[in-house]
Amino acid sequence: MDRQLLGALEAGGTKMVCATGYADGTVLESEEIPTTAPEETMRAVVAWYRGKGIAALGVGAFGPTAVDPASPRYGHILETPKTAWRHFDLLGSLAGPLGVPCGYDTDVNAACLGEATFGCARGLSDVVYLTIGTGVGAGVIVGGKLLHGMLHPEAGHILVTRDPRDTIGEHSGCPYHDNCLEGLIAGPGVKKRWGGRRASELAGDPEAMDLLAGYLAQALVTYTLCYSPEKIILGGGVSDHTPIVPLAREKCAELLNGYIATPEVEDIDTYIVNNSLDGKQGVMGCLELARRALEA
Ligand code: ZN
Repeated sequence: MDRQLLGALEAGGTKMVCATGYADGTVLESEEIPTTAPEETMRAVVAWYRGKGIAALGVGAFGPTAVDPASPRYGHILETPKTAWRHFDLLGSLAGPLGVPCGYDTDVNAACLGEATFGCARGLSDVVYLTIGTGVGAGVIVGGKLLHGMLHPEAGHILVTRDPRDTIGEHSGCPYHDNCLEGLIAGPGVKKRWGGRRASELAGDPEAMDLLAGYLAQALVTYTLCYSPEKIILGGGVSDHTPIVPLAREKCAELLNGYIATPEVEDIDTYIVNNSLDGKQGVMGCLELARRALEA
């Protein structure tokens, strides 16, 4: 059973990461396919898996998407700004042609599951995974289960208090909210504020990092208070290529101000951490989704 080949697909808005591997988290092979029009993209993805002999497929999809198997729109992409993908039956476009059991969740829930199964959150039952890149997304495990609720958490869009030093202007980088975390710290907001520059180019600028880390810290406080996680893990380009995580960690402790006095929060350096699986947390989580689909 352990050596049955499994498929893992990180279905992102800019690229599809197709991989094969095993239930122990070993990734055997992986390849990126650019995300273009839905039919063309999924034809290429299906062709990649075909003939490889996978026993099941785990999919971590960009959202919003319906992750409740009881929903009539299960596996469909919902109201995305990527209009060509709106209402596209992503899961159906894979499960039909490949004819294997499929597990399906959001890309960030998959990454959270990867860290909780194979990484630094192994053995924990309450975990938040936050990715900061072109957008901000959160995967959440509560009581050992991936959190879905009526849709799935969209904790990247929580509102934060504007820093009076912020020069971004009235509108943030989020088309929906002027004061949400994603709008203020993800790629589009960073570019808007700093003349097209990326966060990684600003990694050595203490003022820029202080501003971004302040917003992130506000969000980390909210997640700590609302989800009561045992660990918060950060991923994505902005987290991976700047010092924002250690800076936000300090600010988060300051903002909590001793109110949450648990051993986890008191050891803030191990409470708020960078991802531990070399960027493979998403794909490895998809392998676990595939393993679970096979067992179901
Ligand atoms: Zn927003």
